[in-house]
Amino acid sequence: MKCNNCGAENKDGAVFCENCGAKLGNDQQQQTQQSQAGQSNAQQSAPVNNAPTMTNIPPEYEPISMWGYFGYELLFSIPCVGFIVLIVFACGANSNKNVTNFARSYFCFLIIVAVFLAIIIGCTVGFAGAAGLSGMLNN
Ligand SMILES: [Zn+2]
Repeated sequence: MKCNNCGAENKDGAVFCENCGAKLGNDQQQQTQQSQAGQSNAQQSAPVNNAPTMTNIPPEYEPISMWGYFGYELLFSIPCVGFIVLIVFACGANSNKNVTNFARSYFCFLIIVAVFLAIIIGCTVGFAGAAGLSGMLNN
């Protein structure tokens, strides 16, 4: 090993320099060990930092693009056929969880719309019936 003070070459493991008597520190070794430790820490922490990337997402959780959702919306809005596909997807036929959840949310939305329409139709029919009944009574 080389002396840090005078630069003379000494035996490996020597405590003091044979030339100038300066203490041959293990500074270099410690530094290299520390830098190695730092590198290993960086290597260990690197995968943790890279974990939440798109490439590591399993296929069943792979995100759907905006046009993907748009396409599923169009598919579900097809009369009869779309509704059947919607129910099949809502039951988990598609391996992608996002599609399943989207189908279920779309199904809930359709139920709300159906209930809303039923109330409106019911009120309209009821109102028309009441109007017709009152008209008959007046005549
Ligand atoms: Zn020396």
